[in-house]
Amino acid sequence: MCGIVGYTGPREAGPILLDGLARLEYRGYDSAGIALVTPEGELFVEKRAGKLANLRTALADRTPAAGVGLAHTRWATHGRPNDLNAHPHVDCSGRITVIHNGIIENFRELRDGLEERGHRLRSETDTEAIAHLVEEEYRGDIADAVRRALRRVEGAYAIAVLHRDEPDRLVGARLNVPLIVGIGDGENFLASDVAAILAHTDRVIYLEEGDVADLRPGGVALSAIDGTLRVRPVHTIDWSVEAAEKGGYPHFMLKEMHEQPDAIRTAFTGRLRGEAIVVEELTPVADRLGAVERIEFLACGSANYAAQVAAILAQSWLGLPARSTVASEFRYGPPPLDARTLVIAVSQSGETADTLAATRLARERGCPIVAVTNTVGSAITREADAVLFQQAGPEIAVVATKTFVSQVTLLTVLMAALAKGRGRLLPEMERRLVGALRALPEQAHRALELAAPAQDLARRYVNSRGFMFVGRGLGYPVALEGALKLKEVSYVHAEGYAAGELKHGPISLLDAEVPLVAVATRSSVYEKLISNVMEGRARDARVIAVASEGDVSIARHADDVLRVPDTIEELTPVLAVIPLQLFAYHTAVARGTDVDQPRNLAKSVTVE
Ligand code: GLU
Repeated sequence: MCGIVGYTGPREAGPILLDGLARLEYRGYDSAGIALVTPEGELFVEKRAGKLANLRTALADRTPAAGVGLAHTRWATHGRPNDLNAHPHVDCSGRITVIHNGIIENFRELRDGLEERGHRLRSETDTEAIAHLVEEEYRGDIADAVRRALRRVEGAYAIAVLHRDEPDRLVGARLNVPLIVGIGDGENFLASDVAAILAHTDRVIYLEEGDVADLRPGGVALSAIDGTLRVRPVHTIDWSVEAAEKGGYPHFMLKEMHEQPDAIRTAFTGRLRGEAIVVEELTPVADRLGAVERIEFLACGSANYAAQVAAILAQSWLGLPARSTVASEFRYGPPPLDARTLVIAVSQSGETADTLAATRLARERGCPIVAVTNTVGSAITREADAVLFQQAGPEIAVVATKTFVSQVTLLTVLMAALAKGRGRLLPEMERRLVGALRALPEQAHRALELAAPAQDLARRYVNSRGFMFVGRGLGYPVALEGALKLKEVSYVHAEGYAAGELKHGPISLLDAEVPLVAVATRSSVYEKLISNVMEGRARDARVIAVASEGDVSIARHADDVLRVPDTIEELTPVLAVIPLQLFAYHTAVARGTDVDQPRNLAKSVTVE
């Protein structure tokens, strides 16, 4: 999830672009770069790994005067976060330059083809392929060349492109990644979001899927990639700059919850082919998987609950013992470790000290190691034999929401791929799973419509003494995550428990002041879960249930019900957690806590 900003007009482009980038750093700061075309027709490019400050230092007072340019802040998905992989990328002729947000799925094929045809690619990125494709397609009109190049590209993108020989022209395009056009007076802008350009104009066009925008100082022409003209309305924005960074949401946590459909989609993007699951990232460990007899997941916090979901699936699909251990405890009572234990380390930041320490121990003992992380170039990737990136974009709120659903989705795909490799995933099951995965983003979108009822519940239950979250089977880790979310953001005490364990102790906590939150989506353990709910209700506890759409009988057992779309049982955790996140969020808002930066917490925990 990179940040893009572009300018064409009579003013100095350099300072406008650098100020715009500063507003986009929340989208990632692996590197920053700028390209400018001077009035003499020279292309100037500067880029640096790390935050924008590094680029500013490198530029010092060398920024040339220019009326057109583009700039980028990167959040790496393909290739390490270094100077070479920083955007902008330039073609072989040194005339065309490109910045990109998104993922080009057929990049390997494109890069191979380009190299065969004699192009020299300098970076490891998917993005650079676009610069060379535009070079191949260029016949004197940059917008035409971009349209033709994009017909050869598969994946998701927002791009901005410049050609040195057309020095007032800036071309943008989008597919499944946001890009807007800012309309000024004798000047025009491109940006990932309004925050980057709000200082200069409040009039914007939201580009739609497949739009190509051809900007000059005096006007903007929109077309589709086949060249047919398009027209889009101009909107006037009345947000503050701060509200604009949050996409108009009051908090990053809420914004990121609404990014969950995309986070789910990118978690399986490139790992499904037609009706098949194909996880190429496993290739480096492929020859060691046959000997595996057990799976150990290592993770902390929400990642540990995502891993608990995966451990249940692993046992059922692979028929191997599997468990997730809190990484901070793993080293103090480790199981026998050798090449027969596959270790899967899960860390959003990839820098979690507890997870790193546990993973190092496993590596020393000769375990094959797979890492699941959201951060390219992070420490965990150096400890692992194979790495799967979540590609969920940066998460600014301290508490995990979109990265949790992304981990659950990705780990589910990974478990299916491992099962398939051992010949244990029946084709029928694979087809069902792929179909259900593809439907999931839209279903998550519908689950987010529970925001209003969740807010109403949060207000009604805000003075509760505490909460007891329960679930069984795959619902158990969801209950744990729901309780953790509520604790983290609202500072209200909540317990997450296996529903059947309630009667062995914590049931004594229940009364009219301590509601029971039950994860009661459709499952093979539904009836047993309902029995546990009834046990709690008999102790006067009020019951809030998360259930599946179409479940009418749940109303007999619960005071309040939040219904999520129905999916296959294996994927219910992804949807069932959404109303619990919304409930935690609205409880926090009702209690007036610091939602995005709750007290005592840190996003990336780099101490043991
Ligand atoms: N895939 C591009 C890269 O890794 C863009 C990344 C993004 O937008 O997140 O450089």
